[in-house]
Amino acid sequence: MPNKMLSFVRVGQSMPDKRMPVERRRDFREIYAEYDAARASEQAGRCSQCGVPFCQVHCPLQNNIPDWLKLTAEGRLEEAYEVSSATNNMPEICGRICPQDRLCEGNCVIEKGFEAVTIGSVEKYITDTAFDRGWVKPPKPVRELAQSVGIVGAGPAGLAAAEQLRRKGYKVALYDRYDRAGGLLIYGIPNFKLEKEIVQRRTRLLEQGGVTFKLNFEIGRDATLADLRQRHDAVLIATGVYKARDIQGPGAGLGNIVPAMTYLTASNRKGLGDKVPEFESGALDARGKRVVVIGGGDTAMDCVRTAVRQGAVYVKCLYRRDRANMPGSMREVKHSEEEGVEFLWLSAPEAFLGERKVRAVRAARVHLGVPDSTGRQTPQVIDNSHFNVDADLVVKALGFDPEDAHQVFGEPGLKLTRWGTLSIDYRTQMTNIEGVFAAGDIVRGASLVVWAVRDGRDAAEGMHKYLRAKASAVEAVAPLSAQAAAE
Ligand code: FAD
Ligand code: SF4
Ligand code: SF4
Repeated sequence: MPNKMLSFVRVGQSMPDKRMPVERRRDFREIYAEYDAARASEQAGRCSQCGVPFCQVHCPLQNNIPDWLKLTAEGRLEEAYEVSSATNNMPEICGRICPQDRLCEGNCVIEKGFEAVTIGSVEKYITDTAFDRGWVKPPKPVRELAQSVGIVGAGPAGLAAAEQLRRKGYKVALYDRYDRAGGLLIYGIPNFKLEKEIVQRRTRLLEQGGVTFKLNFEIGRDATLADLRQRHDAVLIATGVYKARDIQGPGAGLGNIVPAMTYLTASNRKGLGDKVPEFESGALDARGKRVVVIGGGDTAMDCVRTAVRQGAVYVKCLYRRDRANMPGSMREVKHSEEEGVEFLWLSAPEAFLGERKVRAVRAARVHLGVPDSTGRQTPQVIDNSHFNVDADLVVKALGFDPEDAHQVFGEPGLKLTRWGTLSIDYRTQMTNIEGVFAAGDIVRGASLVVWAVRDGRDAAEGMHKYLRAKASAVEAVAPLSAQAAAE
């Protein structure tokens, strides 16, 4: 077969077709189309098959990127799917929503002078094709084991762990307080980044593989951690972080100032066909409103783009640092700007004006001062620089902290970090309570889907070792006790 690789010197980077902003603004469908086979092969062939692939080093899952790019370039898609799915439980999801510009693609060595290989889009193409052609199979174990595991939280960390453990033969029960599985994949991230059917076909697959979903089941309300430890041989906590950081100041309690997750969940539920009274009443619908979103991360970008699609009069994003210092992905900022969002950089909210409901946000100009201990420049308010931005709806997207884990799990002895996340032993992924493991945002703090998958896989490995040791100990004791009974 002729060498299909290293074509980056003559073939330029080409992302899958992106829908025009004017069309995107009208619906919640994903904005990128899929590659066709020829374009996927052509783009995968741009890879130079590096001896030390920095793309792989900077992928949290250490995906074997050069290999699946080569197989795609050669049209050997089923093999590409095997390689890709060996290290990732949801490649089609990561391919869609990883901030590739900060991870694999941002470290592709051909980027200097030539643009990066479109790794995420090829990854998505491989697994979407695998689903279409029926290559993706439920995780059916070769041998059923007697031991069972309980996983609390059906977000990406819990789902990845469930798949890994089910493949090994354990009985797996996934508990979640929501009525649907998926965590932030289903109720946080909007459809225009990740259509819900993509998430649901993953959870269906787990169900078909024998994983039991216990939805509308909240630990702390319907059971305690101690109850789960009684029911299962090992427990994984993968509950994410949901306590929204708040903003203080005059007028902060006015109506129509809402937290990002409340706003996004209502919109996602609406898209899933649910009845959402707060949406129907208009309280969480941006239609006909002047919207101000406060924050500069991915959550803020999801809020501004949701408001655009709901038919806001205008959408302004207020952020106290500048574009270069935004925590969110640059690609998302670009999409937002294309869709008509206005960014008010270096602007800090100081008060909310209005009588019962918010009428305007009062903000001040900021300049970036000396770096703090983390190396980030500290925003400093410029005297007498105040200005007002009219607003009928304000969405607060300032990040998330963990809920009070001692209260939720009813275990005052559970060891926490100083940030309130769960403390684990990184060699075993176990907390300080025997047989209780933890993974995802509840360990790392608000992070990324790809890191949650990585953590879920690591936790599954830790749990497997623990359960094997436990089973061996029982087997070793059993003959002795049988002997003692005979004597
Ligand atoms: P989660 O996804 O939060 O799942 C936790 C689950 O636990 C939830 O289903 C919850 O209902 C359940 N749970 C919580 N408490 C209990 C309890 N007491 N009892 C039972 N169940 C419970 N990352 C990216 O990589 N790319 C993006 O584009 C991106 N966009 C994002 C947009 C938004 C709006 C937000 C908020 C986050 C985004 N992220 C993104 C981050 C990413 O979604 C998270 O890092 C990831 O989902 C964390 O996975 P997890 O499994 O740890 O937790
Ligand atoms: Fe890149 Fe994310 Fe895929 Fe890794 S999982 S190769 S970081 S898109
Ligand atoms: Fe290919 Fe870029 Fe990875 Fe090198 S860094 S192996 S060129 S994708």
